[in-house]
Amino acid sequence: MKFFKPDYEFDHFTDLSLQLLKENNIHAIFSDLDSTLAAHNELGDDEFTKWHENLEANDIKLVVVSNNSQGRVDRFTKPYNIIGYGRCNKPLPSKIRKIMEEIGVKSSNSIFLGDQLFTDVTCGKLLHMKTVLVQPLGEQHEPWTVRWKRGLEASIKKRW
Ligand SMILES: [Mg+2]
Repeated sequence: MKFFKPDYEFDHFTDLSLQLLKENNIHAIFSDLDSTLAAHNELGDDEFTKWHENLEANDIKLVVVSNNSQGRVDRFTKPYNIIGYGRCNKPLPSKIRKIMEEIGVKSSNSIFLGDQLFTDVTCGKLLHMKTVLVQPLGEQHEPWTVRWKRGLEASIKKRW
């Protein structure tokens, strides 16, 4: 089950530090939205605002790639002027590959951030990016389908 193992595991997105990004020569972060950057349906909080300002100041692009609706993505991204795409069909890599071409970044300079193994980490791996798995934010408010998948994830993690 090593295929699913992310390169990094952190508690929170703010643990993805500038130092790590610079050491890996990362120019773009492709990030999941729900339970990764905010709890379901929530907007960015102060911690997110600060973390994002720091990325911007260092010329690291944050691109939100969600399987949720474009409306949900827009509500989160617009206040920050972040590029964001809904209905990405993760773990399938095709839509995100197109986005990478559009904004002109390579896999070797990109990292994938998310809270789910089967959608986020798998998608990042199919795109040949480094991957970061974070603990889900606001887990108690997640839909049952997501909670069910977390059980499967836990059994895979036990084996790496
Ligand atoms: Mg998520």
